[in-house]
Amino acid sequence: MLETVDFYREILDNLYDGIFFVDKEGCITYWNKGATSLTGYKPSDVQGRNYCDIFQPLDKHGNHLCESDTCPIRRVFNISTLTEVEAYICHKEGHLLPISIRIAPVRHVSQQYVVAVEIHSSSSPRYAMRQRLEELQDMAMHDPLTGIANRRFVEINIGARLEELKRYGFDFSVMFIDADHFKHINDTHGHAVGDRILKMISATIANSLRSFDIIGRWGGEEFIVLLINPKPDNLFKLADRLRKLVEKSALTLESAEVLQVTVSIGATEAKSSDTLDSLVDRADKLMFESKRRGRNRVSIELSH
Ligand code: GH3
Ligand code: MG
Ligand code: MG
Repeated sequence: MLETVDFYREILDNLYDGIFFVDKEGCITYWNKGATSLTGYKPSDVQGRNYCDIFQPLDKHGNHLCESDTCPIRRVFNISTLTEVEAYICHKEGHLLPISIRIAPVRHVSQQYVVAVEIHSSSSPRYAMRQRLEELQDMAMHDPLTGIANRRFVEINIGARLEELKRYGFDFSVMFIDADHFKHINDTHGHAVGDRILKMISATIANSLRSFDIIGRWGGEEFIVLLINPKPDNLFKLADRLRKLVEKSALTLESAEVLQVTVSIGATEAKSSDTLDSLVDRADKLMFESKRRGRNRVSIELSH
């Protein structure tokens, strides 16, 4: 039993995210390394202490979260369902830290109920992406199937980036990505499976971009990625990495059949003489060049 506990403890300790357990009184019983690096507190600083006392969590308006019935951890004990909250907690060095907290009720080995609390830094790329997604949903600029930005958002964004390029010289690049032989997937497996493949492609790409890069659905099985300030020498490498990651993605159907798909990519740097149309056209033509060369390829054009 002890070995099992040590095994899980080692896994938890090696996670990036902060994880801690509290008992029914709100006292901390376990604290992983991720929690230490996020908050500055070592296990010996927090062990056995009440988490509300240590962190004095605040909501986004700066009000105390832990006043009697508003304490999210106490609520999880009462209603026993997973809860997520955005909060500020006090770092050991005193500054307030924006974090996102996920609290899950779990049963401890000794049959005592405890809750597990996961904390992420709100400045992590994953968090930034989620925030942006929520904003896009609010503005009706997301694509309902894939959950990424829609064409309108991409067009507006390219317009703004071109403006910045002209005024301040901020570089960016555009990739045009088109799924290969996609019609064949629809014809063989049906439209619903095609939809799942589109989701798979967009999620693979979205998950491997930096938080400030943008992916949007341009149309059907076509996506556009905006890379902010890439090093020109890296453009091919970045595009080819996305190509490979999509190639390695695999959707397992209920029939156990495994579906994979490839994409053809065209990538180009934006020039200050570009318009939205000239830039997207160039990326599209380069994508077509990849199709012509046999698909599952990257073609790039650098401006200098
Ligand atoms: P190529 O390698 O030359 O790109 O071949 P392709 O079959 O991908 O090209 P084509 O443009 O002929 O076909 C694109 C297909 O994508 C046709 C269309 O039915 C399908 N498609 C477009 N939008 C959606 C969608 O939202 N869901 C599904 N399942 N299929 C879609
Ligand atoms: Mg197409
Ligand atoms: Mg296609």
